Amino acid sequence: MSTDSIQRDTLEVDILCVGAGVASLATALRLLRRCDENKFEKPSIMVIEKGAQVGAHILSGAVLDPTPLLDLLTAEERAAMPVQSLVKEETVCRLTATGSLRVPWVPAAMCAHGLPIISLSQFVRWLGGLADGAGAEIYTDMPAAELLWEGDRVAGVRLRYPGQGRGSWRRRGGLSHR
Ligand SMILES: Cc1cc2nc3c(=O)[nH]c(=O)nc-3n(C[C@H](O)[C@H](O)[C@H](O)COP(=O)(O)OP(=O)(O)OC[C@H]3O[C@@H](n4cnc5c(N)ncnc54)[C@H](O)[C@@H]3O)c2cc1C
Repeated sequence: MSTDSIQRDTLEVDILCVGAGVASLATALRLLRRCDENKFEKPSIMVIEKGAQVGAHILSGAVLDPTPLLDLLTAEERAAMPVQSLVKEETVCRLTATGSLRVPWVPAAMCAHGLPIISLSQFVRWLGGLADGAGAEIYTDMPAAELLWEGDRVAGVRLRYPGQGRGSWRRRGGLSHR
C-alpha cells in the first residue's frame, strides 16, 4: 500500500508553529497579545511539538539576554520567570591537549556578568503556559514529518504519529495541518 492512498484528516488553522521552542512560543504569545492590544480578532494559532511535553527535547542551559523579553513580557512575568542563578564570575580558558590556560581578561563580547542563567527546558515550559493562557493551542507528541506545498509556497505540514516511523506507517492515516 502506498502512503499516498492513506486517508488523512486535515486540520486548518490560521498560523501553525512547528516545534514548541522559544521562537514559536514567543511568536504565538506576541501575536495574540498584539491582537488583544489592538482589539483585532485573534487568529487560531497552533503549536505542535514532537516531544512528549513542552521542553522535553530541549537540553541546553542558557545565559539569557533578557532585553527582547522587555517587549514580550510584563514586569510581573519577568519577575516570575524561572531563573537558576545570575552570572557571578566569568573565566575564559584556552584549551590545550593536556589542560587549559586561563586568559587574564574576558573579551567584552563574551561578558555576561549579572545575566540570568536558566534551564531552557524549564523556561519554555513556563513560556508555553503563558502562550496557552493567551489562547495558543499547544499539542505535544506531534512530530511534523514533511512539508505540504501549494505551488511554491508551504501550506502546512504532515504529521507522523509516534511508532509510524519504520514500517508501521500504513497502520494509521496521518494528520495534516494547514
Ligand atoms: C549546548 C547549547 C548551549 C546554548 N547556550 C545558549 C546560551 O547560553 N544563551 C543563548 O541565548 N542561547 C544558547 N543556545 C542557543 C539556544 O538554545 C537556541 O538559540 C534556542 O533554543 C533556539 O530556539 P528555537 O525555538 O529556534 O529552537 P529550539 O529551542 O531548538 O526548539 C525547537 C523545538 O522544536 C521541536 N521540534 C524540532 N523538530 C520538530 C518537528 N519536526 N516537529 C515538531 N517539533 C519539532 C523540538 O523538540 C524543540 O522543542 C545554546 C544552544 C545549545 C545547543
